[in-house]
Amino acid sequence: MPFQFNLNKQDAGTSARLGEMITPHGVVRTPAFMPVGTQGTVKSMLPEEIKNCGAEIILSNTYHLYLRPGHETVKKLGGLHRFMNWPYPILTDSGGFQIYSLGALRKITSDGVMFRSHIDGSRHFLTPQKAIEIQEALAADIMMCLDECTPYPATFTQTEESLKLTVKWAKLCKSALTNNHQALFGIIQGGSYPELRRQAAEQITSLCFDGYALGGVSVGEPKEIMYKITDSITPLLPADKPRYLMGVGTPEDIVFAVSCGIDMFDCVIPTRCARHGLLFTNKENVVIKNARWREDNNPLDETCDCYTCRNYSRAYLRHLYVAGEILAMILNTIHNIRHYMRLMENIKMAISENHFEEFKKKFFNK
Ligand SMILES: [Zn+2]
Repeated sequence: MPFQFNLNKQDAGTSARLGEMITPHGVVRTPAFMPVGTQGTVKSMLPEEIKNCGAEIILSNTYHLYLRPGHETVKKLGGLHRFMNWPYPILTDSGGFQIYSLGALRKITSDGVMFRSHIDGSRHFLTPQKAIEIQEALAADIMMCLDECTPYPATFTQTEESLKLTVKWAKLCKSALTNNHQALFGIIQGGSYPELRRQAAEQITSLCFDGYALGGVSVGEPKEIMYKITDSITPLLPADKPRYLMGVGTPEDIVFAVSCGIDMFDCVIPTRCARHGLLFTNKENVVIKNARWREDNNPLDETCDCYTCRNYSRAYLRHLYVAGEILAMILNTIHNIRHYMRLMENIKMAISENHFEEFKKKFFNK
């Protein structure tokens, strides 16, 4: 069955909206947050635990799976869902972003990007066609076009040249598709220049993708720029397609972007922070190693219904973390993912009950 997006409700006071994406591996209700499973695993989490936290879709990284174990291997073993035992929707990125952030000695030509593996230094050439071939082999429900992620800062001319390449590659990605059940999203680049972002939105949406992403945000630019781009460009994207803000973000970023009409998010913040002992609660962010928790018998967050908060004290979580125990990562990650999922549930509830604007105000006052 081909990918489908249903827009179910539009908020009265803001641009926030409720929808659902129908994919071959199930339905994803939006606004949705995708935990990041870089190497075919959300670090320290069993797939059942991810699902129990409320996640309906995860993101996995093409760059990592292409280099190790290899997309052909994953394909032979039945595709990524089977391989990692996650039978629900998966979105894969194109590999572009990791090449820019991890790959050594990269060289971009108009046909693709040459890079050295961060694992063994071997040489690879990733083209738009190859990015689709890899994502089709992984059998992702949603694939992303190969784009050039413009760094911040970049001049207008550099950004303009980079954008031309992204648009050219988007066309090549689309024409490389060999089936119609895997969705393909186009990516809007254009750096911190509103005019280029507008051009990008016009050119990429004219190619008719299944959804659209704002890329090249969260790359070190000041937060105001990211907010301004999200606020001004999201309304230019077709209302009947899902809109994805890539690599974002903090709970505050998510609430703001939802109010602009964004439907999808991914970010390593909840999982990476968990592994480093930084835990989110509705009141404050907790640094779990602090001595003040040594004898604190309370749950991390008394309002949280996650496995960690239902069964363990702050004192025990602190002990595990300080002792360097593996269980610290597991319990911390369960909580942070559930915290993000509860945020998404509260957002959806507020939109459905017509008080998202009030929800947003209260959230930022806190
Ligand atoms: Zn919890």
